[in-house]
Amino acid sequence: MRWFDERLHHAWLNHGYTQRFEITRVVYQKKTEFQDLIIFDNPAFGRVLALDGIIQTTERDEFAYHEMLAHVPLFAHGNVKTVLIVGGGDGGVLREVLRHDIDKATLVEIDRAVIDICREHMPHLSGGAFEDGRVHVVIADGVAFVAESGDTFDVVIVDSTDPIGSGAALFTAEFYGNCKARLAPGGVLVTQNGVPFFQPDEVVETYRRLAPLFADATFYVTAVPTYIGGLMTLGWATDDASLRTLSEAVIARRVAKAGIETRYYAPPVHLGAFALPPFITALMAGDGHTRPGP
Ligand code: SAM
Repeated sequence: MRWFDERLHHAWLNHGYTQRFEITRVVYQKKTEFQDLIIFDNPAFGRVLALDGIIQTTERDEFAYHEMLAHVPLFAHGNVKTVLIVGGGDGGVLREVLRHDIDKATLVEIDRAVIDICREHMPHLSGGAFEDGRVHVVIADGVAFVAESGDTFDVVIVDSTDPIGSGAALFTAEFYGNCKARLAPGGVLVTQNGVPFFQPDEVVETYRRLAPLFADATFYVTAVPTYIGGLMTLGWATDDASLRTLSEAVIARRVAKAGIETRYYAPPVHLGAFALPPFITALMAGDGHTRPGP
């Protein structure tokens, strides 16, 4: 029997703990120009994508991540026409974004192989999104794109790998500043920000970098079983603080009008996701332990 052991890139975690998946079949394995890519089948989670040894998404629980990354900013904004996705080559976030009445979604992915291989071996993830006429795919480093593009977007979604390798540059103050420059007035930036129990420094560092740039910077949470360790944080940054004070009735009206059915996202979940446990707010305040526990 073959197993896949995931060890997150965090020093204290590499002692006596791992997340383990049985591999019933290796569907595809390749060292791309940027990373080690594997797609395998697992009895519990279906088809699984990992990059550089880190789980990116699985067939069974991807909805809990992709729905929250897409629908929270789009329904909070309420009139999104243009979206920029940085990373996200598996197409899951793009699929959810396209369920809204938008004009254009631009996806900037550094590694073309992720798009091609996921389209072939995990087609349900993008669900035909890459064939949608509203989609503009750019194969480039997202860091250079946000620095050089003159375009603006109503929502910017950073669906990145963890802050190592090519993903590290997607967590810097300079990158966040350039994302802000890409936002249209009233725009929202959301980011993949790790699991704070295991990766607390991602909350500490991201908040320290976002807070000076935006009138409203915080995190919201989702729970994705294979992003193991409890709640995962998603970064939220905008200059329009009113987007976080909408009533449930307003959000529910927008969801009903859009006619989008979801499995994780819902108006009360949207509002509740911004309620943060004290161990996360302590990290934001700079007085949290970077190694949780006693
Ligand atoms: N949901 C996933 C997670 O949190 O594990 C992330 C999924 S998505 C596959 C992440 C993508 O970000 C990868 O395909 C990777 O190639 C891309 N990426 C990493 N660094 C990048 C960069 N600098 N510019 C654009 N895309 C980047």
